[in-house]
Amino acid sequence: MNVILEALYKMEIPALNQSYTHQSQQSWTTFMAPVATIPNHHLNLIQDQRRADGSVTSVVSSSEQRPQTIHWDPTIQSDSDVYKPGSEITNASTQGMLQRSYSLPTSPVSNKQTESRYGLDPQLLPSVLEVPVCDAGDCVKGCGHCGAFMSPAMSWQDCGQRFYCPFCDKLTEGTWFFFLLFVMCHGSLISPLIKVVELTVKKNLSSALALMKSLRNRREVFGKGAVLLLAIDVSATALRTGQLDHMCQQICAQLQALNGPKEIDQSELRVGLMTYDKRIHLYDLSPALSRPHMMVITDCEELELPVMDGLLVSLRECMHIIERVLHEIVLFIPESEEVPSSQELAVSAGLKILQARSIFHGPDSSVSLAKECISEGCCVHMFVFSHQEVGGAWPGHIPFLTGGGLFCYRTLQSEIEQERFQADLSRCLDMQVAYKAQLKVFVSKEMQISGCYGSILTTSDSCCVAMAAIDGRTALAFEFTHNKSLEETRGVSIQFVLSYNNYAGERRIRIHTVMLSASHQLLDTFRSSQAETLLTFYCKKMYSLALESPLQCLREELQTEVTEMLACFRKHSCTPSVSPGQLVLPQFLKALCVYINSLRKSEVLLPGLRSSVHQRLLQRSLTISMDTASMASLFYPLIQPLSVGAENSTTPLTGEAVRSTVSSLHPCGVYLIYSPLALLLWVGSAVAPYTLLQLFNTNSISCLMSGELKLVLEGDNCEDSLQRLLVEDKSPNGGASYADFLFHLHVNVLRLIV
Ligand SMILES: [Zn+2]
Repeated sequence: MNVILEALYKMEIPALNQSYTHQSQQSWTTFMAPVATIPNHHLNLIQDQRRADGSVTSVVSSSEQRPQTIHWDPTIQSDSDVYKPGSEITNASTQGMLQRSYSLPTSPVSNKQTESRYGLDPQLLPSVLEVPVCDAGDCVKGCGHCGAFMSPAMSWQDCGQRFYCPFCDKLTEGTWFFFLLFVMCHGSLISPLIKVVELTVKKNLSSALALMKSLRNRREVFGKGAVLLLAIDVSATALRTGQLDHMCQQICAQLQALNGPKEIDQSELRVGLMTYDKRIHLYDLSPALSRPHMMVITDCEELELPVMDGLLVSLRECMHIIERVLHEIVLFIPESEEVPSSQELAVSAGLKILQARSIFHGPDSSVSLAKECISEGCCVHMFVFSHQEVGGAWPGHIPFLTGGGLFCYRTLQSEIEQERFQADLSRCLDMQVAYKAQLKVFVSKEMQISGCYGSILTTSDSCCVAMAAIDGRTALAFEFTHNKSLEETRGVSIQFVLSYNNYAGERRIRIHTVMLSASHQLLDTFRSSQAETLLTFYCKKMYSLALESPLQCLREELQTEVTEMLACFRKHSCTPSVSPGQLVLPQFLKALCVYINSLRKSEVLLPGLRSSVHQRLLQRSLTISMDTASMASLFYPLIQPLSVGAENSTTPLTGEAVRSTVSSLHPCGVYLIYSPLALLLWVGSAVAPYTLLQLFNTNSISCLMSGELKLVLEGDNCEDSLQRLLVEDKSPNGGASYADFLFHLHVNVLRLIV
């Protein structure tokens, strides 16, 4: 298997992905940096061997090493490749733009089939890039019809008299001077960057179509389940007359009956409890709490309810909690005077609970304030001291929606927290930021933009995104679809135009144009796909959709997409010599399964019992704007063994990174575990005392706990935080292990292609 795949993928890839290079015949492979930007630990392979008992399925990994994905390294491009016309037009580099795949299937059917959609993660302000500015900007015009900016995607005709725009399919008249400038900027790039690709149409396109249809039909349609929200009158009258007692008993009995064995499955029913007199009392019934919490909403004029998971809980899982509250409700209720209770208030509060879209939604007031900040280009960084989580609103919505951040400190008394505050503050001030940013996207006429995901306020118009501020570490993901066939000779062009204010207050326009090939061969799409970019795309998309869709559906959708992709690869791109039970993964997407599994079981998509709503909100906000490199190490953390060297050496030696599973951690070892949101030091139970002495200059580990670095000793109870980072294992929130997930995928793939 190994050999077959290797041979397949060593073929030359015909593509015309060389925007901004002068050598138009350069092969696409030039842009593949061997491993330069992939974290080293991503090279250890995930190897998995499992056999189903006696059944046809045997899952064998196709390689013994952690997959090495292709990575298009934009840093290979030199400054001379950067297009530099225009006074306020800064550049047109494709740096920072990573594609999900660098080749698109020509037919819309195969496009849907391989990947459903096409994704792009532009990181628009790469911090490393020094942008040359040109002074003759007014002379350089773009397309006269759609407004796209001049770029190599425009093809000149009739000796520079007019040029063709791929974004709107029209011709614009040019002037001689304009053309000359263009030629000077691009060397002698008069002819469009089009490379003819040999055409071999897949014979079984009709069978592909049939498969496609069956896949669509199989996909389950999820809706929102029913909710039973009980509002109980607890006014002094209800209490005095014994009405409350009786009510609670009756409700309890009814719920028990609902929960019992029945023909119709009610087990998915969600239940909420609310009591009211002239105020509203809400109950957090989350099983994560040691006892249910009650919250009294006193401001009933402008009813603003806290958003939390525990207000509506599963009847099946939380029956005992609901019973307990109903039995003890009299104890919960604060004494009130004889005032009539308000039924209208109860109904409107109930409606608010049902309307609560998701815990990730900011309250309307925050969202509208963030909108105002964005239109003014006002980026908010919030520093919060002695922040209380319980019952309080999360302060992070406005900062993250405006391109800023949230920094929480327990107290400013400790020296470590003071240092942290100082570092955070200076980082915020030092960062290069573009303000009042407007991003406009142009795509070839055959394509449409179907989504834009990231730390932004979504609007109906995905072609135009407004941001208060954007820095070099922020990336967005775009989703494109095409309904018409693409022409192999023409490919696809995409242009991002970012206009922003710099520190000096100058308005700048930064243009990124990328040209991609289109191919009739599905294999080309798989060959030029990249697992890390796919992960970034899916993470941004799913975390954005978490605002409106149930998390269960998102986890299902992720699994379905990967299954369909692998089934399609197997059906159309695989060699016939593969035996039916063998697991086959595209060469550059081998890491995809471990990434997707890790994403599926992240606390945002699969809440654990011990993670709070605030932690999940923070994790979502921090992750959704990350670039591809950070995203990859977040979902597959680095585990680096540390060891001591020679007797007198003071610096620890670092060994080769190991796989992210508990079996990699040896009791005699010390390991540094890093992901962008966590830093742990794991110390095995059998570590030699001299190692501790040499590494930490102490015999006692207990005095080492400090600051950002969290110390985890083998067998102690903070191993929970470690387990979350060992993404190949079963996670504390119930997420599947990588081996189990891969096995499950494989079985599903085989079912699909039978
Ligand atoms: Zn145009």
